[in-house]
Amino acid sequence: MRPAIGVLALQGDFREHVHALQRCGIDNPVLVRTPRDLASVQAVIVPGGESTAISKLAVAFEVLEPMRQRIAAGMPVYGSCAGMIMLANNILDARSEQTSFGGLDISVRRNAFGRQVDSFEADLHAPAWGEDALKAVFIRAPWVESHGPDVEVLARVESGPHEGAVVAVAQNHVMATSFHPELTTDDRVHSYFIHTVENRA
Ligand code: GLN
Repeated sequence: MRPAIGVLALQGDFREHVHALQRCGIDNPVLVRTPRDLASVQAVIVPGGESTAISKLAVAFEVLEPMRQRIAAGMPVYGSCAGMIMLANNILDARSEQTSFGGLDISVRRNAFGRQVDSFEADLHAPAWGEDALKAVFIRAPWVESHGPDVEVLARVESGPHEGAVVAVAQNHVMATSFHPELTTDDRVHSYFIHTVENRA
């Protein structure tokens, strides 16, 4: 039995995550929009999009608190881009009303790469995902500006003006990337996450 994995489907590129999961053999990912949807899954992916909108909708759809509780109780969760922001315990350059699910002991800076470089691609190497470079797509991406001792850095930008910027992290059952593996056909980040879920089950 493959695990029941949900994708938070309030806003953003949740369909692309669903397709990536399906390519990895998770036939029926659950679109999570209500506390009831959330109760039916073992793990959740928080998509890229606009973290201010996801935050607002999470309150409106009453999934903010249930997500916080499930994450605190050990539910595996992975967030890409806006999803990373939603999993950060602290957001820099947040909108005043913006809140997060938390789970990662990180300070994340929104739109950190600046407006001139709205989006870019970079080759990253992360032992967690194997030897080959991963082509990472960044779109108005955040970075991890600082993190606590229990956070594992999985990948950094490897060259250019932002060399060294932390763009992938994990802390126990919580993982996040500044970039969007769901927008490529390299599914190693998703399969890594699925393995994490299966190992915890
Ligand atoms: N800049 C967006 C935010 O603050 C994130 C962008 C993205 O998910 N591609 O939420």
